[in-house]
Amino acid sequence: MNNNTGLVLDNRYFNHVIERQSLENPERLRNLYQILESPKYKGRFTKIDPREIHISDVHTVHSSFYIDQLRNHSINKDPYSYDKDTYLMDQSLHTAQLAAGGCFQLVDKIMSQELSQGFALIRPPGHHAEMGRGMGFCILNNVALAARYLMKNYGLNRIMIIDFDVHHGNGTQDVFYEDNEVLFLSIHQKGIFPFSGDPHEIGKGKGEGYSVNIPVFSQFGDTEYTFLLGRLLQSLVEQYLPQFILVSAGYDAHVDDSISGTTLSTDWYRTATLMLRQYAEEACDGRLLFILEGGYNPVSLESSVLATIDGLLQPMNGRVGVLHSNRAEKVLHNHPARSFWTI
Ligand SMILES: [Zn+2]
Repeated sequence: MNNNTGLVLDNRYFNHVIERQSLENPERLRNLYQILESPKYKGRFTKIDPREIHISDVHTVHSSFYIDQLRNHSINKDPYSYDKDTYLMDQSLHTAQLAAGGCFQLVDKIMSQELSQGFALIRPPGHHAEMGRGMGFCILNNVALAARYLMKNYGLNRIMIIDFDVHHGNGTQDVFYEDNEVLFLSIHQKGIFPFSGDPHEIGKGKGEGYSVNIPVFSQFGDTEYTFLLGRLLQSLVEQYLPQFILVSAGYDAHVDDSISGTTLSTDWYRTATLMLRQYAEEACDGRLLFILEGGYNPVSLESSVLATIDGLLQPMNGRVGVLHSNRAEKVLHNHPARSFWTI
């Protein structure tokens, strides 16, 4: 039994949908919800209902111009192609507000110590949404909104965001690029959409050093990712001492997800979860929130999300062992973040 873990699942997340095939669609979640509602998981987690965030909360991250665009399209039944991946229809803004609101609910329960950790199984995803525009299936930046909510409502000023989606979290970086109240770490495949996330993107002004980008090569798998995540968590968490850890949890670096060339196994997501729990416990009383981003093979998405949930629910048995990887270590050689952090 581990009822200190909260999960957000809600059928209203299926309402943002268009006829034509999109990789990002309600089928990504439907089976997963069924499994989590089955007797196997009964009583093992606390189900949390989302709320719709207020437009004034949306303004803490996104520009008025973009919010006006979203509102204008929310009255049209006909889908509008915002860009080649991202569409808007009458339910899109509401569904996106409900997605961010799933994160807010978990933040509240974790901050009140009703829960110690959570996973928002939401859509649409958020980490590509910049202040002034949506992109890459993302409408509102859920993880950035959650971070701003933690700052504004709970007075936190050291929040760490770890993004292991295979694509760079350009939107999250955009929001906090000049901010030292968020340390943003992104591990992503080099040279793919959205073509940002170079190691030299380190932040600006008082945010200098607070964006840490780790582009990895196609073919990198469990050993390389575990080495990099382990090394970076150990150094950055110990030096930054986050008060809360948010995770942009994307599942498209899986070997069976054809959108990428990386080769993570399903079980890697359990390992990563145990590592994140360990550092959250050391730094911030276990305050840890996973937020769903990408993952476009419904089969590997489902098994990998369940591996994460099993990692949240299982007892902690000592530290996760990390094997050395020479080719992963090379990624850190001469990394510009070394001017700010010992890594
Ligand atoms: Zn992705």
